[in-house]
Parts: sequence; structure tokens; C-alpha cells
Amino acid sequence: MDVMQNSIDQYNKDLLSASPVRAIEYFNTLFPGQCVFSTSLGVEDQVLTRIIASEFPTIRIVTLDTGRLFEETYELIHITELKYKIKIEVYFPDHTLVENMVNSKGINLFYDSVENRKECCHNRKIEPLTRALKGSKVWITGLRKEQSLARAGVSLVNWDNTHSIIKLNPLIDWSEQEIWSAIHTKKIPYSSLHDKGFPSIGCRPCTRTVLPGEDSRSGRWWWENGSKKECGLHLNEE
Ligand code: SF4
Repeated sequence: MDVMQNSIDQYNKDLLSASPVRAIEYFNTLFPGQCVFSTSLGVEDQVLTRIIASEFPTIRIVTLDTGRLFEETYELIHITELKYKIKIEVYFPDHTLVENMVNSKGINLFYDSVENRKECCHNRKIEPLTRALKGSKVWITGLRKEQSLARAGVSLVNWDNTHSIIKLNPLIDWSEQEIWSAIHTKKIPYSSLHDKGFPSIGCRPCTRTVLPGEDSRSGRWWWENGSKKECGLHLNEE
């Protein structure tokens, strides 16, 4: 792990102030064919989708269909594939895991306890993500420091212990304003939910609008007091 941490520190030094294109290019050269980008179709991910589709067509783009997404998210997958002439690989949960969970704990089990919510996130997100990342060396994400206090300490490059993979966050230092500027100037498609007060979009039953001044993750699992607003995908950055 120390050897790996030394490598991560060196990557961060090499890529100090690097643009997203430069950072992705760096890893795509080091690990050709072994970089994967996971998108949740949020605005950050849409900015990265455009970059990857136009500059790095061999990088796989994957998403997770939990079975509980907003209809707008499915529409955006379709529109994005058409616009950039790409294929977004969709990973689904293991049906046996979900059937056992729902039939023993209920369809909306996540409202009953933090443990139930984490079990649902594990079965609907983490298990399929693990399959999506398998065989890759670099996981590209759209995390930004500004999104929440939990993400404020995240670096451009990290080591993800859970999946034993290098995690690259090319937009880590971007502001919300920079994201929206890119969305508008590059005419990047985005979810209509953002215009209705949803800064962070996840599963429909677990996402709501936020008030002015609240951090962008506060609309996720809003009924939980004190729990970190993460589903487990990005636990290493907490
Ligand atoms: Fe389940 Fe909600 Fe997590 Fe989606 S966000 S996987 S519905 S607990």
C-alpha cells in the first residue's frame, strides 16, 4: 500500500493544475484499454462524457441502472448516446439479491433504517459497480470538492481500497459555475431535473430538491440525520 501511495503522490505531482483532458490522457497512456468512466448522468459526468467521447473513444463509459431512477435519467442516457454517437454500458443489479432484499424487507426498505439504506445501495449500486470496474486499472469519476464537506479533502488522484483501483477525478477543483459554463458553451445535454431544483440526482425515492445555500448532496437521503450523504461508491474519499 505504501508503494501504491507513493505512486498516487507522484501522479498528483505530475498532474498538478492539469486540465481534465491532460489528466485523462496521462492515465490513458499509462494504462491503455484499462480506464473506465462511470457516469450517473449528473452535470459533472456529462462534461466528462463529452470529453471522453470526443478525445478518448476507447475509454469505456458505464452507468448503473438501480431500477429506481428518474425517467429523466433514462431519457438523458438515450439523448447522450445519440448526440455523441457512443454506447453507454448499463449495469443492472443481481436480480436474486434485489428479490431477496425486497421480499424480506419491503420495496421501500431504505426509509426504515440507515442499515437498510446501505443494503439497498450495496445491492443496487456497489455490486454492479464492482462488476463494471473489474479488469480496469483506472476509474474516472466526476467528483468535485465543492459538492459536500465529505468530498472537500479528495485529491485529483486517489487509491480506492474497496475496488483496488486508481481513482481519477478530473474535475475535482472545478466550481459549479465552471461546470455550468461548460454545459452551456459546449451545448452539452443535461437532465431537466437540474432546472427543477435537483443539484444532485440519484434514485427517485432517495432524492429531493435542495434549498438555496444547502450543499448539493443535502437532497440525498434527506431523512437521515447525521449519516454521510454517500451511497458507498465513494467511501474512500470520505
Ligand atoms: Fe436504494 Fe435509494 Fe440507494 Fe437507490 S439511492 S440504491 S433506491 S437506497
